[in-house]
Amino acid sequence: MNIILFGAPGAGKGTQSEFVSKSKSIPIISTGDMFRDAVASKSELGKKVSSIMSKGALVPDNIVLKLIEERLTKDDCKNGFLLDGFPRTLPQAKGLNELLARFGKKIDKVISLEVTEENIISRLSTRRICKNCGKKYNLDTMPPKKKDVCDDCGGELFQREDDTPVTIKHRLSVYYIETQPLIEYYKNQNILQAVDGNKSVKEISDAIAVLL
Ligand code: AMP
Repeated sequence: MNIILFGAPGAGKGTQSEFVSKSKSIPIISTGDMFRDAVASKSELGKKVSSIMSKGALVPDNIVLKLIEERLTKDDCKNGFLLDGFPRTLPQAKGLNELLARFGKKIDKVISLEVTEENIISRLSTRRICKNCGKKYNLDTMPPKKKDVCDDCGGELFQREDDTPVTIKHRLSVYYIETQPLIEYYKNQNILQAVDGNKSVKEISDAIAVLL
């Protein structure tokens, strides 16, 4: 199954994508993670996108689509994939459709996590990530046992550079202008399924499981 997990920044896409990936045995393709890896490795791509990301702006569509094309043609996507954080603009969504059509594929489902703005801001400001293994925490709802230390590997927890109040505000306005219109786009294709993303992680996973 080819799935898009859709939602605003902080809607819980990262957390729920792990659940979907395990239950359907499909890889998670997170463009945000791919760009962060590129920045960390100081590759050419990383140098191009680093300042865009720290401002909370969007990477240009042509760069994102090229990255996705390379990733979707890998072997592990043969039996399906889960997209997290892509597409984020109408040209990306159209580009994805064209790309998949070339391979005789299509998106089967778009699961949209609907979360209030108040919850989004609170989740993003309290999000922490392990520097070592990438495990995600939330200081309110999923805190580590020991302050700033990962429960699983003992790694140090950090706050993403773009999870600061000013950048969060900018990312949200970008979401409303560029990304939210995709809800209508996928609704018109009859593949959009909405899930209340304000609930607990388990309740949201249960609601998603029914759709898979
Ligand atoms: P995320 O982890 O999905 O919140 O993405 C972090 C940042 O990576 C975003 O704020 C953008 O700067 C960039 N990014 C990730 N995915 C995309 C995309 N599909 N289109 C444009 N920029 C993206």
